[in-house]
Amino acid sequence: MKPSQYPHLELDIFTCFIGIILACILAFYYLYKCLPSFTFVLRDKETQDSLEKDLDKVIKEDSTKLIQKDSQREFMTKEKIEDKTILQEQIIKKKEALKKDRRLKEFGSNKGIVNPGLDCFLVSALQCFVSIPEFFSPYDEPEDMQCKESVGEMSVLNEIIAFRERYYQVSQDKVKVGSMRNYFDQEFPRYSQHDSCQYIMSLFEILQTEINKDKISSPSKHLETHSEVWNEYIKNHPSTIDQLFVGMYETCFVCKKCENSDIVYEEFKNIPLICNEENPNLGFEEFLTMPENIEESEFICRNCQEVFICEIFKQIIKFPKYLIMVFQRINPISQYKINSNVFYPLSFSQRVPSTKEQLTYNLESIISHTGTLSSGHYTATCKRDSKWVHFNDSSCNDLPANFDPTSLPNAYILFYKTESNCDI
Ligand SMILES: [Zn+2]
Repeated sequence: MKPSQYPHLELDIFTCFIGIILACILAFYYLYKCLPSFTFVLRDKETQDSLEKDLDKVIKEDSTKLIQKDSQREFMTKEKIEDKTILQEQIIKKKEALKKDRRLKEFGSNKGIVNPGLDCFLVSALQCFVSIPEFFSPYDEPEDMQCKESVGEMSVLNEIIAFRERYYQVSQDKVKVGSMRNYFDQEFPRYSQHDSCQYIMSLFEILQTEINKDKISSPSKHLETHSEVWNEYIKNHPSTIDQLFVGMYETCFVCKKCENSDIVYEEFKNIPLICNEENPNLGFEEFLTMPENIEESEFICRNCQEVFICEIFKQIIKFPKYLIMVFQRINPISQYKINSNVFYPLSFSQRVPSTKEQLTYNLESIISHTGTLSSGHYTATCKRDSKWVHFNDSSCNDLPANFDPTSLPNAYILFYKTESNCDI
């Protein structure tokens, strides 16, 4: 065989080849190690760029408005300065809002809540409220609130605002309840079992008292229609809780002797559902047919001034936007917990007596309770962005698309929402 004319060249090609392979291995290793952070930087840069672009647009729009105003009043320098300050404040606000929007898009809004021990009754209820944007929305701008001057003293309200702020913080995948817990220490002592429904009602009452303060003082006058009765109520109770969760019953007592009728109105914040151990379908049905319920009972007739048998007609005249329904899971005789399955629908319709409108309610959140009354656990299953999520203390898990929220055997508290206008 003829020896190669250029042996040194062959050697060089071989060295180069080895070198290239080594370089490739090194390059791959470097990319593998650094690629994730590299793409993150890129993505972050992208987000930042688009944020800047949006901000530029906002500033440009606002500046155009300002220039137009400037040309209108050339000599009013003082107003110009004021306008500029307002504009700057607006820009800062818009900047913050945009940043918050980005954060939510990037990191999502589903987080667990830290349970320091036996606080699941509270933690699961808070998850249900996070799913109700209107619950927090009036608190976004305290200056818009009707009791503006007293907002500083509204302690639980302030705590709720602070909690929501923490919930949306980027850096945390779970949130602490924080000092809000202190306000419930007396009614719900720490490290012992409590009823989630009782907590929700207690929270509502405190918020109602804080926001409706100085409002409950209106001269009583004769009210004719359902709408008059409700409007009078909401005028004196303008809180978000009243506007979102409070409904009203009308009970009519008709004396069987003189046929005189007495009407009593009472508001409600939840509807109890009977747990029928033999027939689990009964609980919900009973509520749905309740408006036509006719009972007979004894009462003192105002006309006859004596005790007479009367007929009672009870119906809901005002349906709330959010209807809370609670399965009565304590057996009234044995005082044991009823662990039987319950029936509840994904949606149902109800007719408003005064307007004849049909309201459709859809299931939004469920609080489930497993175990016994002395040792049990609460979890929440909530609809977030039309997907179902299961919240168990500090963990949260997306549920599959085919998840059936009406299949939870331990359902205890149900949150239904209507998109229809429930004015009466
Ligand atoms: Zn009578």
